[in-house]
Amino acid sequence: MELEINFEKFISRKLLELQAYSTKSYDHSIKLDAMEMPNDSIVIEGSSILNVLTDLELNRYPDPNFQALREGLLVAKKITSPKLDVIVGNGSDELIQLLCLLTANDGQGKLLIPSPTFSVYKILAQIHGLRSFEFNLQSGTFHLDTPRFIEEILKVDPSLIFIANPNNPTGNRLIGRDIEKVCEACKGLVVLDEAYYKFSDKSYIDMLQDLNNLLIMQTMSKIGFAGIRLGMLFGNKKVIDLLNKIRLPFNVNTISQFAGLEILNSEALVEKKINSTIRERAFLIDQLSKIGGIKVYPSEANFILVDFQSYNPAIVFSQLLESGVLVKNVSGQHHLLKGCLRITVGSEAENREFIRIVRRIIAKSRT
Ligand code: PMP
Repeated sequence: MELEINFEKFISRKLLELQAYSTKSYDHSIKLDAMEMPNDSIVIEGSSILNVLTDLELNRYPDPNFQALREGLLVAKKITSPKLDVIVGNGSDELIQLLCLLTANDGQGKLLIPSPTFSVYKILAQIHGLRSFEFNLQSGTFHLDTPRFIEEILKVDPSLIFIANPNNPTGNRLIGRDIEKVCEACKGLVVLDEAYYKFSDKSYIDMLQDLNNLLIMQTMSKIGFAGIRLGMLFGNKKVIDLLNKIRLPFNVNTISQFAGLEILNSEALVEKKINSTIRERAFLIDQLSKIGGIKVYPSEANFILVDFQSYNPAIVFSQLLESGVLVKNVSGQHHLLKGCLRITVGSEAENREFIRIVRRIIAKSRT
């Protein structure tokens, strides 16, 4: 018997009609769809998990103010001003949610985002009742036309802006130090999402000092630790205090707080892995560019956007999957992404295998 839902009248139309973030799972042997580090990523020497768990006193609640991690992060980012602070979340996803909650303002809130971009911004805005405004990136290059974006800011008057820098799924940086002009034009909060900054080596965290509505968001997910769910948001202490007021009391668990600090102390290992991802990215771009009929977009992230339009992206996607390779088909997400698949940079072996399989698929479709 089907279970009747009879409490819909208590739930807003917006939530009933919401399209959930897609997390479909497929059988595969090579996983290149989610911008994780490959399996052979990082071993933190000397920390046997069982010893660590005993020492962490998991019978107790976590430190609600994540004091050790907070101080470690401020030192690591060289933030000394008492006017600035950091909040951590259960992944940056939670921080995006908190920012939407903070700026929703009983249905008056407005989100402005460049488009296409990370889909979670819009989903969480919708859940919290913000109106979303999208500003299209330039066709063919995905550049952000900053002067026109600023005109849009003046017109829309958003309470919240997210700019992913580098952007997902396009892989390019959208903005440089002219983020200053965006912050000056916007009366609300401007969040620069630096989830992928390690792969471009450009962070604008130093600009927090002078821009009181700028927030910088980073994450442990893309540097090898998606499983610990740890995102961080740096910026104006007054804004961080408000976010602390509305978050759940123990939002980041003891193990993740501990792991976060260990990762901060393992910078050399993390850098080594990032450098190898950057080298592998160059290999993939070089090899893919040699295949005719596809367009490979430049990337400053740990993934590459590739336009397979002349080969039908849905077919390429399913043929890759038949060969055990899972990538992300973003073709249907936005008209500017038509034909595109997003490929995460894998390990050396995975990338070579991926190239061999793509070449085979393309050669077959030509005959
Ligand atoms: N920002 C961007 C631009 C992303 O692409 C992602 C994840 N794909 C996130 C944030 C979310 O990261 P986290 O794992 O920290 O929640």
